[in-house]
Amino acid sequence: MTVQGLANHVVGARFEALDYQRPPEILSANDQFSKVQELLRGESPTDWPTYGAMLSLRGFADEVRQLILRAQEALVTPEEITAKAEASGLSGWRELAAFYRRYLQVLDDIGKVDYGGLVNQAAAAAGHGEPLFDHLLVDDYQEATFAEEALIVGLRVQSLVVAGDEGSHIFSFQGTTDVPLRRFLEQLPTAEHVSLATAHRCQTPLYEAWSTPHTSEETAAVARELRRIHVEDGVPWGELAVIVRREDGHVGGLLRALDDARVPRTTPEGGLSLLAEPAAFPFVLALRWLARPQDRDGLAESILTSELVRLSPAAARGLVRAALAEDQPPSAALQRTDGLTPEEASELRSLSLVLQEAEAVAGRSVLDAFSTLWRKLPYARRLVEAGERSPEGARDLDSVLALSEAVSRAGEQADASVIAFLEVLEAGEEGPGLAELAEERRPDAVRVFTAHGSAGREFDTVIIVGATEGNFPSLSRPEPMFDLASLDGRVSQADRNRLRLWDERRLFHVVVSRARRRVVFTASDPHAEATVLTARSRFVSELGVAWTPAPTGPFAEPLSVAEAAAVWRRGFADTSQPPQRRLAALRGLLALGDNPARWWFQRDWTGSDRPLHENIRVSFSKLDTLENCALQYVLSEELGLEGRAGYYAWVGHLVHRIIEDCESGAIPRTEDALVAAAEDRWQSEQFPSHAVSEAFRRVVTRKMLPTWLVMYGQTPALAGEIRFNFEFAGATVTGAIDRVGEVSSGGSQITDYKTGKARGGPAEENLQLGIYYLAVNMAEELATYRPVKAVELAFLKENVNGRNFRVQLGMNSKVQQEFREKMAARLSSLIEEIRELLKTEVYRPSPEAECRYCDFKTLCPLWPEGRDLFLAASVARA
Ligand code: SF4
Repeated sequence: MTVQGLANHVVGARFEALDYQRPPEILSANDQFSKVQELLRGESPTDWPTYGAMLSLRGFADEVRQLILRAQEALVTPEEITAKAEASGLSGWRELAAFYRRYLQVLDDIGKVDYGGLVNQAAAAAGHGEPLFDHLLVDDYQEATFAEEALIVGLRVQSLVVAGDEGSHIFSFQGTTDVPLRRFLEQLPTAEHVSLATAHRCQTPLYEAWSTPHTSEETAAVARELRRIHVEDGVPWGELAVIVRREDGHVGGLLRALDDARVPRTTPEGGLSLLAEPAAFPFVLALRWLARPQDRDGLAESILTSELVRLSPAAARGLVRAALAEDQPPSAALQRTDGLTPEEASELRSLSLVLQEAEAVAGRSVLDAFSTLWRKLPYARRLVEAGERSPEGARDLDSVLALSEAVSRAGEQADASVIAFLEVLEAGEEGPGLAELAEERRPDAVRVFTAHGSAGREFDTVIIVGATEGNFPSLSRPEPMFDLASLDGRVSQADRNRLRLWDERRLFHVVVSRARRRVVFTASDPHAEATVLTARSRFVSELGVAWTPAPTGPFAEPLSVAEAAAVWRRGFADTSQPPQRRLAALRGLLALGDNPARWWFQRDWTGSDRPLHENIRVSFSKLDTLENCALQYVLSEELGLEGRAGYYAWVGHLVHRIIEDCESGAIPRTEDALVAAAEDRWQSEQFPSHAVSEAFRRVVTRKMLPTWLVMYGQTPALAGEIRFNFEFAGATVTGAIDRVGEVSSGGSQITDYKTGKARGGPAEENLQLGIYYLAVNMAEELATYRPVKAVELAFLKENVNGRNFRVQLGMNSKVQQEFREKMAARLSSLIEEIRELLKTEVYRPSPEAECRYCDFKTLCPLWPEGRDLFLAASVARA
């Protein structure tokens, strides 16, 4: 039995000697935490001159909880703390000691004990009556507390054997000490000391240390090595272990690498990993939705795109936008189905119903809420089906099972609500955390442990990931706020560090000695993402192990489908190989379903000795992009990387076509006819959702087309949508003018219709109108429209002070001359800029650019998302 089990047995047998009417009830770690929190909240700040302001803080309650446990384990009474505090002038400790006394009194009154108090009480009762046992054997005595020592010695058994190893003492941060082991012979002078000299594991396992440039390569190397050991050395998965120092953000990356390489694995023992498990996370999202109505707006999109509903990000955003368009909060998106397929709509409806049902019980029981989710969500059904079909599915199911076990433990706590469960789950190192998970669920799977979690285990091979300073040793662990040792005199930081280093050295020894045959250390080089520069662990160097680069491909013997495809592709392409080997490689590739059409690596770089363009062709839209930013210009106009035109562009195109058909006589010049044409040609599938489509349909049929009819309907155009093409400054300028109208005093007016928001400056500054003006004056096919007396932009969507919005420039001959010169100079300077860019091929982003509608932020060094991922690499290059 555990020490707590032994203590429980003793207290159960001797409760009367402790003045209890019946055996006291035991508070679990979570219940003890809740009790401390509850009592602290009821305290008066006036009784806490030093810490009064912290009484309601969760972190403070956790520190006090730990202090109370540690004090009981160390057999330190409130009175002793008060006396030491008086002697050393540590005033804050007096209020802590007083609370400690009140806490014990409250537990006593309600007939309860916490785990610390249980061992303490058992030690007090151990000496009463006849000895309860004849023989007692205690393992791992290097991890005892003083209360445990008092209990074991106090039981007065006929024969007592304790076994321990000072060098394996690693849980000092949990209040254990090796002092009882070291002074055992003083406590019981008649005891015999036996040294166990025979190592039952391999004395000298094989050590290797691998370094990689980046953590992703490190985790990939670990995954491959596990697969290799299993396949080539024939070691069962369950005989392999991966050990990390602690559960932090890197564990998620490691687990994903193992999953990608299809290495079966267990779930690490702590709570944080449940948040990192992709299969369990949708349930966590649903629980957050239930417990935190105030956070629902922020959760809506994540829930819609998660496995719970499986919407595309665009569809999810469409629902949120539709909700906002109707003045609803984003969370209302879960109640909408605009633009969804019938299957998507039905999945979303079932989720909403299940969430409603679970919400009714969420305040009372996390167990009932989770059970509703599990029984009724289509996602749960899919998980079970996948679990029966594939090993990956089985692992996903395991991680949800781990979550359900954590839920069921939480369901037995005093506060069994979903809120309380989430608090514990998300608390990380703060708070009592989740108890260890049952780990034998998947006997044939690689074990993933934290360093402390690996104690007491044994494997064929152990891979220790992240063997760097900061992990081994980790000297920066936060100190407890209240350290009992400080009552006995100030402990210097140097002393703390020295003791910590010894702790860490012992921990390293324990971790390394888990392997019978082989230990592999891995580390990646420091890079910009680390806040503290890391270096390879000194402990590894002390073992005399040399670091070598981790094995990288190409590997002769493939271990996975991807590797097999790579090896056979190379074999097939290698003309020095015998034909039969190349044919065998080809057969292998075809069997894998590899597609030679996608072997991009076989193609040479494109390029020629000639310049990219021998003739320069420009249009207004190209030049407009160039004026904004040269980098955006090359990416969109030269390389054609711009995303597909969106629904705004589709609406603009539709309106232009309808106007053109009206001008040509294909559509009558009436509002009804224009609206009917728009309704007839409308394609709601062009829009992200039904709501957005309807909003635009209203704008087109009620605003743009009626506005156009008022502005231009009565006077037919001289020409519409006329294409032009003229030579200017060694370049060909092309484009199309929306409308050329007649001016009553003679000459023409150029109009460009705009279907977006009004923006841009006055007409005399507008490059588009300038190019059209030059086109009419220089392109022979437009000669009949000269002279141009006016140019204008007509914003069909806008209405200013009840009037339709136009940006116009009327021109007499002087203005015409000025406008022509100004626009010609601007056009030739832009053409010259293009010529220069083509020559130098250096395209820079512009700090003054309007970046709002730019698709290339992820390629642009001016934006955080476009910067180098690895600063160290760019520094090295520099
Ligand atoms: S994000 Fe701005 S600066 Fe960068 S390429 Fe696009 S427009 Fe240019």
